[in-house]
Amino acid sequence: MRKHRIAAIGGDGIGPEVVQAGLRVLEAVAKADAGFAFETTSFDWGSDYYRRTGRMMPEDGLAQLAPFDAIFFGAVGDKEIPDHITLWDLRLAICQGFDQYANVRPTTLLPGIVGPLKDELGAAIDWVIVRENSEGEYAGVGGRAHRGLPLEVGMDVAVFTRGGVERIARFACDLAMTRPRRKLTVVTKSNAQRHGLVLWDEVVAGVVADYPELTVDKMLVDAMAARMVVKPGSVDTVLATNLHADILSDLASACAGSLGIGATANLDPSRKNPSMFEPIHGSAFDIVGKGIANPLGSFWTGAMMLEHLGEAPAAKRLMAAIASVTAKGTVLTPDLGGSATTDQVTEAVIAALRGAN
Ligand code: ATP
Ligand code: MG
Repeated sequence: MRKHRIAAIGGDGIGPEVVQAGLRVLEAVAKADAGFAFETTSFDWGSDYYRRTGRMMPEDGLAQLAPFDAIFFGAVGDKEIPDHITLWDLRLAICQGFDQYANVRPTTLLPGIVGPLKDELGAAIDWVIVRENSEGEYAGVGGRAHRGLPLEVGMDVAVFTRGGVERIARFACDLAMTRPRRKLTVVTKSNAQRHGLVLWDEVVAGVVADYPELTVDKMLVDAMAARMVVKPGSVDTVLATNLHADILSDLASACAGSLGIGATANLDPSRKNPSMFEPIHGSAFDIVGKGIANPLGSFWTGAMMLEHLGEAPAAKRLMAAIASVTAKGTVLTPDLGGSATTDQVTEAVIAALRGAN
């Protein structure tokens, strides 16, 4: 029996609710498969932990997580604690500490879900956005000077390194090669940002040359945003910088119907460190404790994690179970126009998993 050690971090807001639902579904997948089992440890890190201890996670948090095969994450964000603490000291600390330089967000419109794009446009959405997750515009380099004076400056320096660009480009090409259309769009803004993004273009072009079977095109980020809405079927795998992909991937999830559905993987492709899997939504305080958080994003997160753990057939079965529930359209949470609770959606997906086996 294959065993996968999972670190579960619910975090803030609805994070713990959807992670708990996700773990139930993952247990059901493992039970139905019988070829593997999970050994799950939960960590109560996040904003409440910060209120108790003055830290988002313990000082040796990364060392505690290192032995796990994967991290199953909820959300962070708090009304009282600033984002630079909640985000940087937990989620980003994990991403950076474990060199999870590839952020991957698949987007498709699940059956039965009505997105903002019209029928045939919406149905054409089948995208994977690859986001450079370790440097670029979010490198954290910069500073403030002359505070309060008219000449005060605030600077964020976008950092692009040859090695950093090369590894994410290679990752995106490898991923695009696994998809039927073998198509990659490289997003840039090198017409306006004439140093870092020119290096980005050059290095990506060099890597792409190693993949003659890929169809590659290059788009400015502004034109790309318009293309995703107007011609979604022309887009397949997308490679973009930290900032550009951040924006395009929110556009993507909006096109797919609800913030409550999508999932993201933060990968260390070298597999030296555990990778982290999370739903795309945040802590959503308006619905905390009401039992109506949509758990589908957490389930999709589970499917991505299964795939990463080498359990592709189980991941496929889980996605099929999710799709069968959305296709029926009778058991959906209020964000999708239904009246079901988190628990009822969880039960429905578990029932679909049983039916499929
Ligand atoms: P954060 O600051 O952590 O990003 P947020 O308060 O901005 O949190 P988000 O999670 O980003 O909230 O989502 C914005 C809104 O979308 C929420 O207020 C909520 O109404 C809705 N939403 C997000 N996720 C879900 C979900 N899983 N189920 C139902 N509604 C959701
Ligand atoms: Mg938000």
